[in-house]
Amino acid sequence: MKKVIWNTIFIINFYLILYFWFTNSSYLITGTTNVSLLIALGRLAGLLSEFLILIQLLLISRFTFIEKQYGFDKLISVHKKIGFFLGVFLISHPLLLTIGYAQSKNISFLNQFISFITKWNGIVGATFALLIIIFVAIISTKKYRAKISYEVWYFLHLPLYIAVAIAFGHQINTGDMSSGGAMYYWFLINLTTIGIIIFYRFLRPIFLYIKHSFRIEKIVQENEGVYSIYIIGKNMGQYRFQSGQYANLIFLQKKMMFHHPFSFSDAYNGKCLRFTIKASGDFTSKIEKLKIGTRVWIDGPFGVFTLKNSVNNKYIFIAGGIGITPILSMIKSIRNTQNAVLLYSNKSEADINFWHEISKSQIESHYFNTSLGTSNRIGIEKIVEICPDFKERDFYICGPKAMTKSLVRNIKMAGVSREQIHFEKFDY
Ligand SMILES: Cc1cc2nc3c(=O)[nH]c(=O)nc-3n(C[C@H](O)[C@H](O)[C@H](O)COP(=O)(O)OP(=O)(O)OC[C@H]3O[C@@H](n4cnc5c(N)ncnc54)[C@H](O)[C@@H]3O)c2cc1C
Repeated sequence: MKKVIWNTIFIINFYLILYFWFTNSSYLITGTTNVSLLIALGRLAGLLSEFLILIQLLLISRFTFIEKQYGFDKLISVHKKIGFFLGVFLISHPLLLTIGYAQSKNISFLNQFISFITKWNGIVGATFALLIIIFVAIISTKKYRAKISYEVWYFLHLPLYIAVAIAFGHQINTGDMSSGGAMYYWFLINLTTIGIIIFYRFLRPIFLYIKHSFRIEKIVQENEGVYSIYIIGKNMGQYRFQSGQYANLIFLQKKMMFHHPFSFSDAYNGKCLRFTIKASGDFTSKIEKLKIGTRVWIDGPFGVFTLKNSVNNKYIFIAGGIGITPILSMIKSIRNTQNAVLLYSNKSEADINFWHEISKSQIESHYFNTSLGTSNRIGIEKIVEICPDFKERDFYICGPKAMTKSLVRNIKMAGVSREQIHFEKFDY
């Protein structure tokens, strides 16, 4: 589906929420005092909070139609940005309502808050939901996120689903969405979002697992700390992916049962899948201990780092270290490597992965050994020297964060359009 359609869906829903809010709260808005307006705005903040929560859930739902259009990287970056506005609405909701009601009854803020908790139905639950959401928002800020492992951070997110359910119940029981068309609409958007999450995050991988019975066929050491896992199963011809994409893998072996994203390191062949993993942390260091025959849960394919999104059919592939995996898959899927060049950078010659496969593909390749000094790094001068026609080519970059960031910036500054630059980040 085109981006414009998603934008339209967003705008329509935004206006529908405004419409239902205005219809049901207009008596407050047209009231003569500021107090009523505060209450109306407090209610609106609550509705927009729930709306943003639903969008946040959709962005991480792995809903194919959105993911295919934008790519998970971009969706995660929007998810992070929305987090700020969500925080503002969430805090404003109880704050405005408490101030508004306190002023209307001429009592203190604290007394009004106590009155909400003790006399109003569902406010204890709603407060609990709010605290959960604020907690998750805090641990997701850069400062705290860097201090906790991905696994802990992931599990701390799960109570959010309880918070969303409570928030939904709270709004259906009271407020602008508690009756008539507004209530049906609220049910519709909430249940649709939950349905999409259940389908794309849980049912689809279960379905894939049952259909293909993925299991490890063999493990091949490619280099020190770098292993290729070959996965076979049933109906493999029907498991299709595009070169450059990735999948989330869970190995059903003790202490390995947590999803991690890995790119396909070979092109589609209808028989087996290959992922090549470098030991870089807790989980990836245990890859060599995997047993042959271990069942694998595969969620995917995902990603927009594919040749399908190229503007021209001439390419410059730039890889750094293990970033070669999606790039090799792409190189192997090109029929004519005459129009492609590979620039591959590593810390040392011994770190080069897949040297034989790259040579066999006959792609023009240039290797960079960064241990020999800064003159051996891939920079815009080298690109110009190797490919004088670089402005007519699509760039595919995958490597360490700093390398990708500086290359993207310099390539853009050299006059290559944003549409011709494609990159995959190996962390979110
Ligand atoms: C789209 C994509 C494709 C990738 N392809 C490859 C590949 O082909 N080969 C390869 O060796 N590596 C690949 N990676 C990187 C790989 O996923 C991480 O190195 C691995 O998950 C680190 O796990 P760890 O527990 O060993 O390390 P840790 O030290 O625990 O994690 C290091 C960093 O990896 C990220 N990370 C950890 N766990 C997860 C997770 N479950 N989901 C998402 N990110 C996580 C976090 O940013 C974390 O800070 C890819 C990553 C992404 C996002």
